[in-house]
Amino acid sequence: MTVTRFAPSPTGYIHVGNLRTALMNYLIARKAGGQFILRLDDTDPERSKEEYADGIKEDLEWLGLTWDRLERQSERLDRYEAAAQDLRDKGRFYECFETPTELDLKRKKQLNMGKPPVYDRSALDLSDTEKDAQRAERGAGHWRFKLDQERIEWKDGILGDLSIDAASVSDPVLIRGDGQFLYTLASVCDDIDFGITHVVRGSDHVTNTATQIQIIEALGGKVPEFAHHSLLTGPQGEALSKRLGTLALRDLRDRGIQPMALLSLMARLGSSQPVELCSTMEELIAGFDISTFGSAPTKFDVDDLLPLTARVNQALPFAEVAPRIAALGVPDDQAERFWAVTRENISVLDDLGPWWTMMRDGAEPVIDDEDAEFVAQAMELLPDAPFSEDTWANWTAAVKEATGRKGRGLFMPLRKALTGQAHGPDMSTLLPLLQVVRARK
Ligand code: GLU
Repeated sequence: MTVTRFAPSPTGYIHVGNLRTALMNYLIARKAGGQFILRLDDTDPERSKEEYADGIKEDLEWLGLTWDRLERQSERLDRYEAAAQDLRDKGRFYECFETPTELDLKRKKQLNMGKPPVYDRSALDLSDTEKDAQRAERGAGHWRFKLDQERIEWKDGILGDLSIDAASVSDPVLIRGDGQFLYTLASVCDDIDFGITHVVRGSDHVTNTATQIQIIEALGGKVPEFAHHSLLTGPQGEALSKRLGTLALRDLRDRGIQPMALLSLMARLGSSQPVELCSTMEELIAGFDISTFGSAPTKFDVDDLLPLTARVNQALPFAEVAPRIAALGVPDDQAERFWAVTRENISVLDDLGPWWTMMRDGAEPVIDDEDAEFVAQAMELLPDAPFSEDTWANWTAAVKEATGRKGRGLFMPLRKALTGQAHGPDMSTLLPLLQVVRARK
């Protein structure tokens, strides 16, 4: 069975970059009729917060990305300890005592000599007595996995054939000096135990993947299929990392972005298939194909979400927006008409508010100097409210007759005088909703 996972660390809210990972894993699982696991990578007790764990779940639920199983790494520490012991028994795990400053110094020296900054494994030469002495002096050491220094190869679902020379990579630290298990060990144990068959994540994890393959093999697990998607950039190709804070999923939700708009964009961005607005998750699942994604950085423009959101909103049935319209104070008997009139003139549902305010209170009229006399004359001819669907046609016919104006020169000044804007809903349908006409006062 296909089993995938989305594995955020609950140290912050998730953003569009994380969504790409979540969505791809979700779609792969659903398309194969498999299982999608939400795994909280919370081995760091200081930075992991319950508030973020809840926030991540809320964000995924908002999008409809439901998980079949929830796992928390903080509840599996015994398993990680057992795996660590297994690696020790197999001679693949060794304790090191260098401080961060010492390691930094080593790296600088290597770089100065034009060498890659790979850990020199000097801890491997320590005798038991030396280790005891180090432990007594510096406290418990950190533990590194001893890589087999050979090429690590895999066929990546997006990047194709990959090969990384393990000799060019430092032996990864899996347990910190304070005993904290690090992501790599926890992730590998979980991927083995939960039977993960496919891992999709950002291309910043490619080197991790190489080392994880060796650790999985050392622990006797089955290596999953890996795919690494390109990182998102801003619209001009600029790094998005600094702006990701403003692209949290909850911020997009607060801005009124529709889930299907966001999902439809993210399921296709960076692939060779065009972005198509889907109306159901089933459609999205059916149209997903990871092999169509490319390795080039993917440009993301948050503004692209607005036209897609507008299309979702404009297609909403009245029943779905009725509570929101009622909350604006639109009288019940006018609510359906209000929706019919405004729906094509909104992007987000919050745009409904200003339209209602305009209809209820009247707009500040916009009257160009050359139209002042014409508008005054027209206002004399405007019948009294309430208006009907015929009011606009009858009124403009009368104004045409009286002033001789026609076409745009007739209609546009009247629209601007009544609504304060040059664009908006069809005037015949809008007029019956106008409660007040300020231009007349
Ligand atoms: N917690 C890791 C991250 O957010 C998970 C990476 C992975 O998918 O293994 O980067």
